[in-house]
Amino acid sequence: MIRIEYLEVQYGRQPPALTIEQLSIKRGECVAIIGPSGAGKSTLLRTIKGYVRPVHGKVEVMGVNLATAGRRDRMRVHRKVGVIYQQFHLARRLTVLQNVLCGRLGQARFWGRLGSLVGWFSVEDRRQAWSAICEVGLRPQVHQRGDTLSGGEQQRVAVARAVAQQPVIILADEPVSSVDPAWAEDLLALLTDVQTHHQATLVMSLHQPQLARRFAHRIIGLRQGRVVLDCDPASLTEVGLKELYRGSDVISLDGTTSRPGTGRTRTA
Ligand code: ADP
Repeated sequence: MIRIEYLEVQYGRQPPALTIEQLSIKRGECVAIIGPSGAGKSTLLRTIKGYVRPVHGKVEVMGVNLATAGRRDRMRVHRKVGVIYQQFHLARRLTVLQNVLCGRLGQARFWGRLGSLVGWFSVEDRRQAWSAICEVGLRPQVHQRGDTLSGGEQQRVAVARAVAQQPVIILADEPVSSVDPAWAEDLLALLTDVQTHHQATLVMSLHQPQLARRFAHRIIGLRQGRVVLDCDPASLTEVGLKELYRGSDVISLDGTTSRPGTGRTRTA
């Protein structure tokens, strides 16, 4: 489903943000990417989406080599890869339904796309949007404006928008970092339910290893742009985490954070 070989990604003249020799993610996998801030988690997701062009190497998504494929194939992949961002990226003045319909933009062919740009969505677009809204439990809020929703509800809209794309792959960049911790588990449960229901591949970056361990089937640890850990959740140890977060705040498996050298801990 996703195959990366000899990848190097660099921003300007900075040291490489990503250096990955081999990484494969199979169809239907649920993968959490963890690692300290600046490790390259977002860059990896953006590279898979095709937003970042590697300096070297191959990124193959749904059998399409993003560097060499024509526009048509790249668009086919683009349409089937849904993205959920930390900051939700909703249109605040639009309703839940209108926001979710935005997930249908780009699904249609030229005339349909033109129509959807001026607010004419097809019956199929509306059916998919309604179905996605019901799936995330937001039917009562369907006509409510984005900016009147709680953080957790806004992120549900973002999940529905990705679902309306009928995605083959869902990329979630720190999906629960901006929601109340009490809602984080509910949201991840929803996200993994959606992934199972649609038999999609889910790749999410998470700041909390304890959530990664609970919700993902596979954990990939990035440090300074390199994969230093790739294991199943049961094999994730405190020692492995300490090594992964060496030099920065270490987050333990119980969710506490400790600052190196201070001996102080706090609950994440
Ligand atoms: P993470 O998601 O793990 O916090 P990022 O992928 O955001 O890490 O960043 C990896 C590295 O790339 C960092 O050193 C960061 O400063 C750099 N970086 C990320 N995005 C950009 C950008 N748009 N321009 C320049 N440097 C960037």
